[in-house]
Amino acid sequence: MPHPDPATVQALLGSHAVPCRRGVAGPRGIALPPFLDHHVHLHLVDESPLPAHGIAGVVDLGGDPLSFARRPHGGMPHVAYAGAFLTAAGGYPSGRSWAPSQTVREVTDPSTRPGVAGGATTAVDEQAECGASVIKIALNAQSGPVFDDALLAAIVRAAHGRGLPVVAHVQGDDTAERAIEAGLDALAHTPFTAILAPDLIERAAARQAWISTLAIHRDDPATHEIAVANLRAFAAAGGRVLYGTDLGNGDLPVGVNPDELAALREAGLDAASIVASLIDPWPDDSADGLSLLAGTSTFVPGGPPTDDDLTLWLALATVVPTEELIHDDL
Ligand SMILES: [Zn+2]
Repeated sequence: MPHPDPATVQALLGSHAVPCRRGVAGPRGIALPPFLDHHVHLHLVDESPLPAHGIAGVVDLGGDPLSFARRPHGGMPHVAYAGAFLTAAGGYPSGRSWAPSQTVREVTDPSTRPGVAGGATTAVDEQAECGASVIKIALNAQSGPVFDDALLAAIVRAAHGRGLPVVAHVQGDDTAERAIEAGLDALAHTPFTAILAPDLIERAAARQAWISTLAIHRDDPATHEIAVANLRAFAAAGGRVLYGTDLGNGDLPVGVNPDELAALREAGLDAASIVASLIDPWPDDSADGLSLLAGTSTFVPGGPPTDDDLTLWLALATVVPTEELIHDDL
């Protein structure tokens, strides 16, 4: 393979992409920053194959906060987490077999005082003290009761007071609109129950990040079409798109998911935008971003890809120590 021109590679994949070789005599390919899956549930999967299949970091959006607090630091994949799902009394996902009681907290009191049973601040404090870097709430009107405005506002205030963003699972009725109006920072899934009005998309794009999770609808073409249309409009309006798969929800590949990448293409994202969605450090928006992943890179052998083989090529990604990669001269 001839050495690819670095300028061509960066025009296609973004300014972080660098042609390289893996080791002195190893294969040629492209170096990229570490990839993240921004929506997983580690208690439902064996995470060990993730790095070999391109995922260096994950964001767990619903699990047992104590199990994360006990997790040793410095492992691979790097794990950021929300801790438990916060939901209304009897709300989704309480009672689900995949959501044992230690993964759900019912918030029933908008109290901002700490230590109140069922209080908004109590629930946020618990996750924060277990090391959460984001708060996850459920607003699923298709599967039970959801928070009223007072509870929603109290949770957002408590989380923001601790410097934590809030991400919501929205499903049904006007839940996406409520999440946007309440100042939530992110949606855990591209909205998939209705096509959102253009002005609502504009407001979402101005203030939220959306985690894609398009491939979970692969067996339901009508729902898939709604989600793709919403993400296409959100991305076109300049919204921040985060790659995420909801790993743990059904049978999904443990690693970079070519179906998710293909659906992002369908939603109109170009190659550089797809790479940007994979390397976004959310929810760690601090200046040094993924400092815990310093020294870690993504290596994709071969390439640079053509438009047609982009998604399959990116799915060949693997996580490597940066020192293994010998960059071509720029
Ligand atoms: Zn999920």
